[in-house]
Parts: sequence; structure tokens; C-alpha cells
Amino acid sequence: MLVPMRPLLETSDRLGYALGAFNVNAVCQAEAAIRIHEVFHAPAILQGADLANGFMGGRADFMNATLEDKRKGAANIAAAVKKSALDSPIPIALHLDHGRDFESVKAAIDAGYTSVMIDASSLPLEDNIELTREVVKYAHPLGVTVEGELGVLAGVEDHVFSLSSTYTHPLDALRFFRETKVDALAISYGTKHGAAKGSGTVIRKEIAIAIKELLRHEGIEGYLVSHGSSTVPSYIVDEINSLGGNVHDANGIALSQLQEVARQGISKINVDTDIRLAVTRNVRLLFKQEPGLKEDKHLGPVWKLMDSNPSAFDPRTYLAAVMDTVMYNDIPTAQVQRLVDAIKDGVMEGIGRLLVSFDQVGKARFVETRSLEEMADYYKKKGI
Ligand SMILES: [Zn+2]
Repeated sequence: MLVPMRPLLETSDRLGYALGAFNVNAVCQAEAAIRIHEVFHAPAILQGADLANGFMGGRADFMNATLEDKRKGAANIAAAVKKSALDSPIPIALHLDHGRDFESVKAAIDAGYTSVMIDASSLPLEDNIELTREVVKYAHPLGVTVEGELGVLAGVEDHVFSLSSTYTHPLDALRFFRETKVDALAISYGTKHGAAKGSGTVIRKEIAIAIKELLRHEGIEGYLVSHGSSTVPSYIVDEINSLGGNVHDANGIALSQLQEVARQGISKINVDTDIRLAVTRNVRLLFKQEPGLKEDKHLGPVWKLMDSNPSAFDPRTYLAAVMDTVMYNDIPTAQVQRLVDAIKDGVMEGIGRLLVSFDQVGKARFVETRSLEEMADYYKKKGI
């Protein structure tokens, strides 16, 4: 069933593990993400990034997505997730990643997202609090979960870009929770967006521990989120390069560090790059095994985009050639089905190994799911 994100975070916090939260950019990716969580009986958080919604709304040049594109894409993906979630035995939350302004967040909620992030971390603290509070005031009466961000992560993720990082100050985080009433907070503590994290990243886990301790003392139930936490498996990067790709300086966060912070106050771990890499390797492999597909009416243009940009591993760069498949899961031929299968396998590989590593397997049954209406009641009673 499709549910708000907060009950999932409550359970992971209580049981001392963290939930992977995985980004999708196409209907078939959402289907595969749900499927692999079902296989492992794990609670699921699917994420559509702000500009990914633009892409799924038909905007191939997604960096220029308008509010209208985002609205359309959010509706497409929400409809697909709702349909898959209907008969699913696991709880599934659909979360907006890096909502950039109030209107984009509202578009996602109105389209059926059950959880949203407002990323106002580039604003001064006062303004960040004010905008986040505004989003909470809109979302909570509808039962929708809200995540904010405080501190600046280095790295690139769509429109989110920063050269350097500023760690989150624990006292600011406490104030942020108290004044905005958000459910969850993305903190900056050493992780980085994108694949170029540099080798040997060390997470400042003390920051998460300190914030969590302050929240406990103040009786605030808030959850911490680790962004920029892809592990960037080197075996996949190597395979991409052996298949004609050119991906270099790709480094992730060591799994052991993520497993450690999961027991020390982090409740949600965002992963995007791992999935992008696995999908890209699979699509490259498909063209290598069946070179004839390079001339196919539908797949030829995909290959052209892929071949002209060997350093790109964001599937949106080449799936732009099959937008009807991305948006509506249109599968007109057996050849397109092959592409979709390759994409789905990549999504399941990227997510599956992390569900196991994050100890998320079998946890669906512990989640006390609540509907949007029940969450709206909960917030009302608590005055948040
Ligand atoms: Zn992020």
C-alpha cells in the first residue's frame, strides 16, 4: 500500500536500522524498485527528484523543466506507483527529493506524493526555517511527511550543486526541528552528491549522534537523513568502462560507514548513483550482446545518445530517446521490451544489494502503517 513516509522512519528508528531511499526516473524503474522490495519483504521509499519529475513529464532536457512539466511527471509516476502499490503486501512511500520551492513541492503533493523534501539549505537559516515551515503547514494537514535540509553538501545532483560543504551545526538542527516541525532532516556530515566523492570519504558520525541526543533530551521525535550516500560499486564502474564507457574518478561511501551510522541515528540513506550505474552497464551490455539493436527503429536513437557521451551514466541522457516508454511504460516492440528488462534488472541489482547490506530485509511486517488521513489526525493532535 502507498503510505506516508513517517511511519516507516519511526519503525527503522525504533529497530535501529536505516532505510535505503532510491531514486527513479521512469515508470519501469518504479515497478522494478517496488518488486525488489517485495522480494525481500522490505518497506520501500521511492524518490522522484524535482527535475526527474520534469523528465517524467516529457521534458527530455530536464534541466529546463517548468512547473507544468513537473506537475505532469509527478502525476505520471504517482499514478504508476499507486497502481503497483495497490495489491502490494509492503508499505511504500513516494517521496519528492530536493524540492526546490513551495510550488514544486505543492505540485508533487497534489499529484499524489506521500512525502516531500523542501531543500532550502542554500538560504540563510532564518529563511530556510521560514520556507520549510510554510511547506509543513501545507503538508501536515494532508498527512504528508516533510524532510528539510540544513548544512551544505558538496557535489552535483541535478540543480543542486556546491563546490564545498558546510557541516550541520547540531544546535541549529535542534532549532530547525523545533521551529519548522519537520519530520526528517537531511544533514551535511561528510557525504557528497554524485559519483565524484573522492576516495576515502570519512563520515563525521559525531554530528548525527549529537543531533539525535539533543532531540532525545528535548523530547522531539525527528529523523535524520543521509544524502549523497551512494556506494558506487567499483565492479560496475569497471564493467561500464570495459563496455566502451568512460567513467573515472568515481568513488562512493564505504558500506561499513553507512552501516555504522544506521545504528547511530541515521534513519534514511539516499542512493541514486548506484542504480544509474547498474542500469547503464546493463544497457551497454545489451548493445554489445546484440549489436543489431543499434540499428533498431526505437533503440537506435538510444544507442546514438549513449555512444556520443561515454562519460555519462545518468540514464536520462539516453532514455530521452524513448520518452513514451519513460513516461507511460509504452512497450511497442520486443526490442523495447529488451531495453526495459535491462533497465529493470539494473534497478533491482542496485537496490537489492543495499537492502541486504542495510538490514532492511524482512522489516515490512514491523511497520505500523498509517494512512494519510490518520497521519493528518496525528499531526493535529500533536500540534505539529
Ligand atoms: Zn540529496
